[in-house]
Amino acid sequence: MINPFQVLKKEGELNETSRAAIISTFGHRGELAVAAVDEGRVKKYLDYFVVVGNTDEYYVEEGVCSCAASRFGNECWHTLAVQIADAIHAYEEYNLWYYKNGVADDDEDEYQKDSGFPVYGK
Ligand SMILES: [Zn+2]
Repeated sequence: MINPFQVLKKEGELNETSRAAIISTFGHRGELAVAAVDEGRVKKYLDYFVVVGNTDEYYVEEGVCSCAASRFGNECWHTLAVQIADAIHAYEEYNLWYYKNGVADDDEDEYQKDSGFPVYGK
């Protein structure tokens, strides 16, 4: 059984070998995650990783994602994309607080809450 993250670390980048390892392990989730990393849709803010999806963007902290699938306890591809990007440093880095700049600054947070941007907090 291969560990795709070991392969990824060894290769140091997304190439044919590491892509194949990820996709054979994670299937469609792997394909989506690899595509997001390829397209530079993983961004690292000071507080969160942020993944830009097709219709929205999500933030990921400690393997937990803000998307609906994740909230319902399903594994989404966003967390996987972050793991991949983190392993090979394939992310754009922003010297900004995502929470402050992207979410909490917005006074209309009631609306934000219902549109895939839940205000973080437990
Ligand atoms: Zn997600």
